[in-house]
Amino acid sequence: MTMDAYAPPRDPIAKLRRRMTQWEAARPAMLRFDRPFLSISFDDFPASAADTGARILESHGARGTFYASAGLANTDGPCGRNFSASDIKRLAANGHEIGCHSFGHNDCAQRDVFETLQDLAKNRDALTEMGAVKYGRTLAYPYGETTTALKRTLPPRFESARGILPGLNVGRADLAQLHAYAMFGKPFAAMRSALKRAAKRNAWVIGFTHDISDTPSPWGTSAADLDALLREAHALGFTVLPVSTALERRTP
Ligand SMILES: [Zn+2]
Repeated sequence: MTMDAYAPPRDPIAKLRRRMTQWEAARPAMLRFDRPFLSISFDDFPASAADTGARILESHGARGTFYASAGLANTDGPCGRNFSASDIKRLAANGHEIGCHSFGHNDCAQRDVFETLQDLAKNRDALTEMGAVKYGRTLAYPYGETTTALKRTLPPRFESARGILPGLNVGRADLAQLHAYAMFGKPFAAMRSALKRAAKRNAWVIGFTHDISDTPSPWGTSAADLDALLREAHALGFTVLPVSTALERRTP
């Protein structure tokens, strides 16, 4: 998702292309679960997600997925200071999942597919060097942007790819573009009401955010809101797991 000055194009052609990309399931799947699942993911990701965000999840006995762009490591962004190698090592040691968010955090819909594939491989190598283990089973497209061509050519090591279009993951799904709710702005309210519907349908809900603090950026979530969401999810009977672990829990 975005956290810099860049914004993907919003002209009619880009909107149409985005809609067609969403319709075309590159990896169709029928998702069924025997209970409701919730996955919390952090994109880019800011150091506060690795620190405060991880701590809140752990206090609920839960773990999250951290979609890392290695090119952003040790840099400052609008969501605060970004992660460092020590964050990757600590998160992996504590059972969190490190996912791929590309190395350069470019808009994949605006790039050649092969450039993107090279960039994903570069991210894998950089994060492995930083201490990520079992890295790279899930991908989150930067800005949520992708193309049908990219969805079709994702390396098999990616068991799933996550977009930013809200919705429940249950029944007919596309593992190359899973639905996710932003945990900031209007979609966060939609996510909280979706939890109740998801609990009744044994659906899988994925949330994504960036920084976690008492004074979050417009793309981040307050520590109190994350804590309240997890309380609510537990009360509704959700099991909170990283993205790849939740996907493993699907029933045939
Ligand atoms: Zn991002």
